[in-house]
Amino acid sequence: MTTLDSQTKGQIDSILAKVHDGQRISYDEGLLLYQHGDLLDLAEAANARRQQLNPGNLVTYLIDRNINYTNVCVTDCQFCNFYALPGDTEKGYVNSKLILGKKIEEALELGATRILMQGGHNPDLPYDYYLDLVSWIHRTFPAIEINAFSPSEIQFMAEVAGKTWREVLTDLKAAGLMGLPGGGGEILDDEVRKRVTPKKIMTDDWFGVMKVAHELGLVTTNTMVIGFREELRNRLNHLLRLRDEQDDSLKRFNNGFNAFISWTVQIEGTPLGRSRYAAEYGGTSTEYLRHTAISRIFVDNVPHISASWPTQGVKVGQMALHFGCDDFGSTMIEENVVSSAGAPTKASSLMMPNEIQRQIREAGFVPAQRNTHYDVLRVFDAPEADVDLNSMEGISVAAAKQGNWAGLTLIE
Ligand code: SF4
Repeated sequence: MTTLDSQTKGQIDSILAKVHDGQRISYDEGLLLYQHGDLLDLAEAANARRQQLNPGNLVTYLIDRNINYTNVCVTDCQFCNFYALPGDTEKGYVNSKLILGKKIEEALELGATRILMQGGHNPDLPYDYYLDLVSWIHRTFPAIEINAFSPSEIQFMAEVAGKTWREVLTDLKAAGLMGLPGGGGEILDDEVRKRVTPKKIMTDDWFGVMKVAHELGLVTTNTMVIGFREELRNRLNHLLRLRDEQDDSLKRFNNGFNAFISWTVQIEGTPLGRSRYAAEYGGTSTEYLRHTAISRIFVDNVPHISASWPTQGVKVGQMALHFGCDDFGSTMIEENVVSSAGAPTKASSLMMPNEIQRQIREAGFVPAQRNTHYDVLRVFDAPEADVDLNSMEGISVAAAKQGNWAGLTLIE
């Protein structure tokens, strides 16, 4: 980092003082902090903001499973290595209820309280498919919370059915949907979206769908992916729009985004990875941590920020807890989208609850299991089992403590 002139340093110090004092900062102040703030000063300020919003030493996590009902998609996002075009019988799939049911049963056996279900924009699926799917899961597995369909999928369904977003969300809620994942957001600034995901939902519509979801009382999150060769102002545009929309939703509906999570784009095997700018996509761990801290400082009205260990690696995930995050995300019993583009989830996707607890504890915090609403279900003040999770014996001990993690053959 270059040495700052005394005027800029004074400005940075006064912005940081505002954060420590619990005040909101402006767009220009956020940009200046992003450009010139010392990384450790940002961490300290982000932790101050975290304490203002979530005082104490608890770090929460969720036991859930990501499930993809189809990978067939017509949207051709430049960063996606997950999808298959319609007619691609080799790679494309639509999972049957039998397979989906087995995945949910496995998740329940592992203690899951939620499934997070997303898929491609598959033109062969009629509108009734989605309603039937949600209703069937809700009836068959009443204990599991169903978070499903990002705003772009909702918009796609609305187009397929000739319905409004409100009609689609009302139908899905009646069928048993509890909330929407914040996926498909990437960077919510059309200047970037038109370049990397031109056929997908644009910023106004992404927030438009979520506004209706807030009005209907659904649970929502916001995700952000950085590293598309965007400028810092594009990132701040996303954060500012999120903060403004959250103010509005809280005021009008007393409901808004529960949490925010960001990560760096993974481009292995994708069109971006084959482009001549490939080396310029993605981001370092330091960039991720800086962005995490700025997000926590700037977006002062979304209560929780999750660390993204599946994309950044567990150790960086631990560090993120010192950059303003108060949540360690979920067990991610299964993840197929970012892992197919090179994220390290494959290596660690079966993170058992007591392993998550250990990572949180190692980072200096007290682990607590939560549900989708961020209600704390159980606090783990002391280690459940002192076991070596790299050995079969240790895994068996841990499994006995946690349920049936060992010995399961997960449906892939
Ligand atoms: S990211 Fe989603 S919408 Fe985009 S191509 Fe992949 S599956 Fe389709």
